[in-house]
Amino acid sequence: MLSKKLFKYNFLITKKWRGFRNKPDFTKNVYQVERGFYNYLQEHHLKFFEQLLGDDTEKVLTNLCDLEKYNVDWYLQARGSSTVVLKPKTTEEVSEIVKYCNINKLAICTQGGNTGCSAGGVPVFDEIILSTELMNKIIEIDENEGTATCQAGVILETLDNALAEKNFMVPLDLGSKSSCHIGGNVATNAGGIRLLRYGNMHGNVLGLEIVKANGETLDLLKIRKKDNSGLHLKNLFIGSEGTLGIITKVALQCPPRPQTKHVAFLGLQSYDKVLQILKKARRELAEIISAVEVMDSITIDWSSEHTKLKPPIDRYPYYLLIETSGSNEEYDGLRFNAFLESALVQNYVLNGVVTGELSKMQSIWSVRERLADGFKKHGWFGIYDLSIPITEFYNLVDETRAYLKNQAEYVFGFGHLGDGNLHLNVITKKYDQRLVKDLEIFLTKRVFNMNGSMSAEHGLGFFKRKYLPLANSTSSYQLMKELKRLMDPNRILNPYKVFP
Ligand SMILES: Cc1cc2nc3c(=O)[nH]c(=O)nc-3n(C[C@H](O)[C@H](O)[C@H](O)COP(=O)(O)OP(=O)(O)OC[C@H]3O[C@@H](n4cnc5c(N)ncnc54)[C@H](O)[C@@H]3O)c2cc1C
Repeated sequence: MLSKKLFKYNFLITKKWRGFRNKPDFTKNVYQVERGFYNYLQEHHLKFFEQLLGDDTEKVLTNLCDLEKYNVDWYLQARGSSTVVLKPKTTEEVSEIVKYCNINKLAICTQGGNTGCSAGGVPVFDEIILSTELMNKIIEIDENEGTATCQAGVILETLDNALAEKNFMVPLDLGSKSSCHIGGNVATNAGGIRLLRYGNMHGNVLGLEIVKANGETLDLLKIRKKDNSGLHLKNLFIGSEGTLGIITKVALQCPPRPQTKHVAFLGLQSYDKVLQILKKARRELAEIISAVEVMDSITIDWSSEHTKLKPPIDRYPYYLLIETSGSNEEYDGLRFNAFLESALVQNYVLNGVVTGELSKMQSIWSVRERLADGFKKHGWFGIYDLSIPITEFYNLVDETRAYLKNQAEYVFGFGHLGDGNLHLNVITKKYDQRLVKDLEIFLTKRVFNMNGSMSAEHGLGFFKRKYLPLANSTSSYQLMKELKRLMDPNRILNPYKVFP
């Protein structure tokens, strides 16, 4: 067993974080984009929507105060000026809205939980916001097949709780789980903390129902795990960020819920040790590992300062959060403890805590999951969501810090180590277009030299649309543009996003 002294649990209960910075300026002013040739919303358009959706004031919002939260993104970095939010409840209503918008050349921005990190879910100008908030029905959980079918607006955590009652789970977990929608998760091909174990949405989505840009419904809602009878069209919509069609229903495969879990939070002296521990964990914990997250000391300083969550151990240069999930408490516990003990003896790890208690595991996870809370308090931050070789994670963080000299308040890195996904965070007092441009040129060069990606899991949305031609071969970029033209000839679906 692990020494009590080393693995003493010492956690402070968090106070609720308060305080946002002011709402951002309009996206069109800050990022200088031009409005497309769409029609402006008029009284008779509104009348149509009101007639279609009924008298329910919840389904057509036009009051500017009510609209604010739909116009501004979660990170307070983008703000559109839409004058209407439509909240259909059924696929038929979505279909009628889209058909009408296509005929009348009205642009649409589809929004799920509005937790996206690339400002894909908020309008840039006055696009009609189509919110899936009321499309929140769980249609079926099939315990024999291990599948769930639901409307696109079901909140990830709600679906997971419903599955928990039947001992299944959503094979996806994000810090935003209490707000993000399943439709949004599919539209962004969300990754999250357990991708290492369960894979991404391409592997877990069995079927989709889509409303196309002309309003027709496309039924791809199959729930069989194996089906090679034709092209896998559903995959076109996974990660398409609302630009090719609107996801109205989702069928997911859902693995059995683990019966036992353990979480360790470890302090390490160097990044070399972090890599050695990862290798060791992969070898010795193999099938029971479910998450491996890395953070540096500045990340934890940031977290302590901005979320008031205290890490369970003292300050170390690097930290690892390792989670195991399995089916046998005793076997998994013994195995994890043996792994941790030998990591201590071999000097890979300097200190740490390990727990299998739910409340303590949740407290440890909050340190990692609530890192983004503090971002809203600052002037400008870039969350660079990079896919690069794990050996380069902190070389790049150090190089970025050196490149920016004293122009940034904070530069730190954390991320999904097991998936090679670094979140490199740069925080400055205010938005400076020149600095951001220079930084992006610097990062793009470094990341592309490593055959990496500038968007590992957050999508391109509005902020990263310039990477579409840069990150793809000329022929694949060409094909993507042709597909967009074919599937949305009037470009009404989420304009200014993904496609530059
Ligand atoms: C604290 C925090 C932690 C996060 N952690 C992670 C993480 O670990 N991994 C990760 O991948 N992401 C993470 N995210 C980002 C975000 O939560 C995900 O991208 C999530 O999948 C977005 O879902 P949403 O419902 O909020 O979508 P929104 O933000 O509303 O929309 C995102 C995009 O999807 C489109 N869209 C939404 N719904 C539909 C639909 N029904 N049909 C078609 N298009 C649609 C929108 O137009 C937009 O382009 C995090 C965000 C926060 C705030």
